[in-house]
Amino acid sequence: MQWTGLNDLREKYLSFFESKNHTRMASASLVPQGDKSLLLINSGMAPLKKFFLGQATPPNKRVTTCQKCIRTPDIESVGKTARHGTYFEMLGNFSFGDYFKTEAIEWAWEFLTKTLEIPADRLWITIFESDDEAEQIWENHIGIPHDRIIRLGKKDNFWEHGSGPCGPCSEIHFDRGEAYGPFESFEQASDCDRVIEIWNLVFSQFDSDGEGHYAEMKNKNIDTGMGLERLACVMQGVDNIFEVDTVQNIMKHISSIAGVEYKKDAKTDVSLRVITDHIRSTTLMVGDGILPSNEGRGYVLRRLLRRAARHGRLLGVKRPFLTEVCDTVINENKGAYPELAEKRDYIKKIISVEEEAFAKTIDKGTELLTGFIDTLKAENKTVLSGDDAFKLSDTYGFPIDLTVEMCEEMGFTVDRDRFTELAKEQRARAKADHAAKAGSSWADNSIKVDAPKTVFTGYTSMNEEGVSVLAIYKDGAEIQTAVEGDDVVIVLDKTPFYAESGGQVGDTGSIFTGSSVAAVEDTIKSEGHFLHIASITEGDLSKGDKVTAMVDKARRNSIMRNHTSAHLLQNALRKVLGDHVHQAGQLVNDKACRFDFNHFSAMTEQEIADVEQIVNASIMAAIPVTMEEMPIEEAKKLGAMALFGEKYGDTVRVVTAGDSIEFCGGTHVSNAAQIGLFKIVSESSVAAGVRRIEAVTGSGVLELLNGYKDTINKAAKAIKLANVTELPEKCAAMAAELKDKDKKLESLTQQMANAKAAALFDNAKEVSGVKLVSARMDGSAPDALRKLGDSVKDRNEAMIALFAGTNGEKGTFYCVCTKDAVSKGANAGAIVREIAAVTGGKGGGKPDSAMAGAGDIAKIDEALAKFESVVSGLIK
Ligand code: ATP
Ligand code: MG
Repeated sequence: MQWTGLNDLREKYLSFFESKNHTRMASASLVPQGDKSLLLINSGMAPLKKFFLGQATPPNKRVTTCQKCIRTPDIESVGKTARHGTYFEMLGNFSFGDYFKTEAIEWAWEFLTKTLEIPADRLWITIFESDDEAEQIWENHIGIPHDRIIRLGKKDNFWEHGSGPCGPCSEIHFDRGEAYGPFESFEQASDCDRVIEIWNLVFSQFDSDGEGHYAEMKNKNIDTGMGLERLACVMQGVDNIFEVDTVQNIMKHISSIAGVEYKKDAKTDVSLRVITDHIRSTTLMVGDGILPSNEGRGYVLRRLLRRAARHGRLLGVKRPFLTEVCDTVINENKGAYPELAEKRDYIKKIISVEEEAFAKTIDKGTELLTGFIDTLKAENKTVLSGDDAFKLSDTYGFPIDLTVEMCEEMGFTVDRDRFTELAKEQRARAKADHAAKAGSSWADNSIKVDAPKTVFTGYTSMNEEGVSVLAIYKDGAEIQTAVEGDDVVIVLDKTPFYAESGGQVGDTGSIFTGSSVAAVEDTIKSEGHFLHIASITEGDLSKGDKVTAMVDKARRNSIMRNHTSAHLLQNALRKVLGDHVHQAGQLVNDKACRFDFNHFSAMTEQEIADVEQIVNASIMAAIPVTMEEMPIEEAKKLGAMALFGEKYGDTVRVVTAGDSIEFCGGTHVSNAAQIGLFKIVSESSVAAGVRRIEAVTGSGVLELLNGYKDTINKAAKAIKLANVTELPEKCAAMAAELKDKDKKLESLTQQMANAKAAALFDNAKEVSGVKLVSARMDGSAPDALRKLGDSVKDRNEAMIALFAGTNGEKGTFYCVCTKDAVSKGANAGAIVREIAAVTGGKGGGKPDSAMAGAGDIAKIDEALAKFESVVSGLIK
């Protein structure tokens, strides 16, 4: 066998199976399409499940792929075993009811021993304990010695992931030789990574419901999976999958950033491998449109990124570095996955935003956790309480996995049960909160409609006569007749009402006969049935009635204007900001269009103006908007924009407006000119790397303008300005005038205070050669008192002044003593303290100036009256 690079191995495999009449299909996205049972694609067969289940027809009964996979359950093994990554590529050949065990085994053997020339005596075979058929093929057809075929139980050799196709399997293992330990038994040699599994041939013959029931499938299938990195590890004779050519380059990059040599220390090696793995997974995940968040896939991504960042810190890297490594990941993988290079800037930006945000969290969290640990040590405890762990996670965003990991490193454990309990409580609270906000939701009220699917005519019509009422529901139960005042759900055979989907709200309007009317407040969809949520406002309505269904046309027209403008907006954003812009959510109703998209920084005024201009140019050019159904492949050829992670059928609807081409099931204007005008109202941030634009169209713009006009008129009226065009200058002039007046007022106040002080000084009493001045100044805050006092402090005579100010319920004493007074024994601090005490207040300060708060302001006069006697006690 010869050293072969990872990229060559991939090609060799795929072309080998092409030579066996397989169709090569591209790797699917890591985000499962139309499969809610899986968070992330974890095997080659996962995205092909629909073919196995007969829900869709494959392009060929024989298919071969190299599939990107993420396996988070393996996270703990990563860096510790030789063979596990959270990210890896899986090579596979598949038979959909075509060939079965014999060919699968024969070709696997041929590929390994003939194409790759792996010596047969290095390979071991395992089979499911009761699969005699497989044993017979291996032994008699291929010629494998009997003792090299190991029978294993369900845990090892029965392949299933949740529900769906499953079956016995047969694995091919490679013996890496003496260097990895002795070979006492197959199990022992596997445990020490001497023998590693490279290929799993699954003979999928059952369909499992995930609850222990297995139904034999009509058409038996083959599904095989071989880890590309593992195969490369074998072919390159390296120790583990991180030393494989392309992967190693990533590790080398990390090594050089950290200044840590590989193979010097077992502990830093683990960190190097963990980062290598996690940066691969996260780069590929972001490339497939996943964004960091606190739930689902986004959480997996966040967790991997944060773990990588933290292992960077363990290696002593103090600055953000993942973005740099990300470049190497892209370079090493762009041959097989060119989209990575196209999205380079976007991927790097998302990762850097997350890494920087985490750096802040980690600093704060580590500080707190260290504090908690110190307390535990002092108290001789070893378990961090669930409450503390929850506080770290809830208040500071410090992830629980990290808390656990860091605690373990320091020899502590975490009360996870309590943590889980608290987290659960919080989720319940959030849910209740959400439900309360959303009101009673029909969507949750799972009505099972037993009727043919509704025919939707709303793309071309807003009014449908002579349609039949198929069913009426009240409080979730079917009824025959609804009477005036009833809140109901009405199902028709045919309807022009658009049901909420794709971010476009449901239609409103009315359903009526000659004698009865139902006001439709919303329309939603449930498995092909359109549910009109309505209340009967006149007469009564029965199952079987012939009715007219009429959409609120003005509202729907506004919705269509906003929806079409969302398409023009996305197109304009891509022109102004770049091709990384993708819709990340939208809400289109009659009031506005709200459009979320991937972009990493706030838009500038200029960018916003440019986008607005481009959209309005299309509107003014009156470009036609066309809607067409076509096979998905054709739509893709047209370059139609699809949503990340959205499930599409074989036939899709494509909406075209100039060079904006999108997959879309919504309703649209037929010509952009109908939009009238488009105006962006706001641009803001929703999450890291996601921006939101809110815009209005048509009469919405008019309303906005009228609103502005109204505000301006009101402002002008308030300042008695007849000509509104003079508003800016007038406001500027008024602001200047106000400032001027403030200054004048301030100086007048000062003058008055001085005059008051002068009058006080003239009437000052003398005690033992020291002049005493005291006054009560209602309505003066501490600042004013201080100013007044300061005018006394510098006088060239022995003088003590005591002022009491009140401001609402608060009272303040301020006492100053001139230098001469201080030299005679006066002490402002002592005076003010004693005086304030009379009111129950407190305070103090320096000998030359001191302030105190009054307690009961009703006692201020009483306190001031004591001034002379207090001073007498101090003066020598
Ligand atoms: P293991 O027991 O080694 O974890 P597995 O039984 O989970 O493997 P399968 O589910 O049969 O593996 O997947 C098929 C092939 O995919 C394996 O034979 C292996 O080559 C590869 N593979 C599985 N998990 C990983 C992983 N975490 N990292 C790299 N390759 C993997
Ligand atoms: Mg496994």
